[in-house]
Amino acid sequence: MAVNILVVEDEPAIQELIAVNLEHAGHHVIRARDAETALGFVKSALPDLMLIDWMLPGISGVALARQLRQDERTRGIPLILLTARSEEQDKVAGLEAGADDYVTKPFSPRELMARIKAVLRRRAPQMTDDPVETGGLRLDPSTHRVFGNGTPLDLGPTEFRLLHFLMTHAERVHSRAQLLDQVWGDHVFVEERTVDVHIRRLRKALEPTGHDRHVETVRGSGYRFTALPP
Ligand code: CA
Repeated sequence: MAVNILVVEDEPAIQELIAVNLEHAGHHVIRARDAETALGFVKSALPDLMLIDWMLPGISGVALARQLRQDERTRGIPLILLTARSEEQDKVAGLEAGADDYVTKPFSPRELMARIKAVLRRRAPQMTDDPVETGGLRLDPSTHRVFGNGTPLDLGPTEFRLLHFLMTHAERVHSRAQLLDQVWGDHVFVEERTVDVHIRRLRKALEPTGHDRHVETVRGSGYRFTALPP
């Protein structure tokens, strides 16, 4: 599955090496040379994952990680810190700042890819190809198919992504703004009522097997996928 990765690295050669490898693996890469530029990107669209160099001009990578973790909107972005420092206490400082993992330079592209995969699996399961199943509803990202009690259900691409996110973040209430950020990747240029339209389509698609009951409206807050509908 293609993932949007924001690479914050000031050394052009390393940035290029990382970007080429990520793009080769089918991901979309956004490049920033410092924390301020990265924050500008994040403001308009949330990336699926960020690779952050520790030593950056201006705001350091660790300070950037800490800042992202303090903001409710950006708290959930999976973060991997890149660093030339291999001291144990640096590693601890990086993880305390909120990084999900820590890769020491020089690293092989293969190692970096493996770490990215592991972090996504842990922090953003909707970005992996692992199938998810709840109450007889099964969604398989690798084949892009959804089954209700074994019966194939017909979902549009947006409804598919929406259901994937909701199922991998079940029992939690998501506001329309959060869903736009997480599913559309854009909370600035898409209207919130767009979410309602796609929730309606999603329910309709799940109706044939009664799985629409799993998608709940939480009045005044947003939507929730529950394993145990009323
Ligand atoms: Ca650097």
